Amino acid sequence: MSIEVQNISKTFGTFKALSSVSLNVPTGQLVALLGPSGSGKTTLLRIIAGLEQADEGSGSIYFHDEDVATQPVRRRQVGFVFQHYALFRHMSVFENVAFGLRVRPRRARPTKRDIRDRVHRLLALVQLDGMAGRYPSQLSGGQRQRVALARALAVEPKVLLLDEPFGALDAKVRKELRAWLRRLHDELHVTSVFVTHDQDEALEVADRIVVMNEGRIEQIGTPDEVFHHPQTEFVMKFLGEVNAFHCRVDSGRVQFDALELPFPQERQQIEGDARVFIRPYDVTIDTKTNGLPSVTAEVIRIHSAGPVVRLELRTATGQALAAELSQERFGTMNLQVGSNVYVRPRHIRVFTSA
Ligand code: ADP
Ligand code: MG
Repeated sequence: MSIEVQNISKTFGTFKALSSVSLNVPTGQLVALLGPSGSGKTTLLRIIAGLEQADEGSGSIYFHDEDVATQPVRRRQVGFVFQHYALFRHMSVFENVAFGLRVRPRRARPTKRDIRDRVHRLLALVQLDGMAGRYPSQLSGGQRQRVALARALAVEPKVLLLDEPFGALDAKVRKELRAWLRRLHDELHVTSVFVTHDQDEALEVADRIVVMNEGRIEQIGTPDEVFHHPQTEFVMKFLGEVNAFHCRVDSGRVQFDALELPFPQERQQIEGDARVFIRPYDVTIDTKTNGLPSVTAEVIRIHSAGPVVRLELRTATGQALAAELSQERFGTMNLQVGSNVYVRPRHIRVFTSA
């Protein structure tokens, strides 16, 4: 079932938590709402679920062409998973997953045997089949979240909403669970909206990413699009580390430090003062100029313990510049703190100053 959000706004007192937000989740997709804390992700998710009302007259929400504004939560057939596992502590894993089926009105309730079969299928799906008799306190955090997901799926929701479901888990378990969630989604194809403030999580899990900032949508796109073609300074900064320089754009040429490069973005035009952004791995480092225009910099610090070598540099004009290069390349260069290097950006993006 597709979800269409049109011009939704939400005000708490005088504070605008959402400003005219529109987005589309096609049937079967997994869309991530990505943004810093306070950007309105949970508010938007709760409005989609029907747990929160949008400002009156502000817009509409459709589930597969049907306006759900007046539909109560129960009728919307959404499944939820929250950051803090809301399992029933006095119920076994089996009973937790069966709960949503057992509380149905008699005529809609499956038989005992059907419930048992379905719960065991779901527990197998989340790889917890041997744990049906355990209680939540006997499970790890990751296992509890998988039970929460099985419970949400038990009632066969048309839409699955996940609000930072792995947020309370440690980094390693998070990583495992995000890969696992992606595989599960590929099997089930339930239309899903996944909230996270972790850009790696969104990039790895989602079909499309909605980048949010201060109650507005900055950009919607595939992981590739938002990562490689950020449309705003905010998106560029939020999705990875950047170096920023003041620049001037003049007739399609970008001037900064000793460089003049062609304006990089198609379909965008900027003139005059602006800022240029460079990812640390998007530079070529040399110990000679080779006659090419480059930024001259001094090596301030070298971090070589890792898959790539990271250099902290200071340009001749006194600006900090982070750069990354491969271990192989670093091995051929004989760099030390105090060495002079020449830096040539391979990719830049330019945005007007915020
Ligand atoms: P996120 O999930 O992205 O961290 P939220 O949607 O929870 O952001 O919140 C967005 C903003 O709205 C925050 O500044 C938050 O303090 C505010 N907010 C959320 N819920 C309420 C509420 N019930 N009353 C007042 N302010 C709220
Ligand atoms: Mg939140």
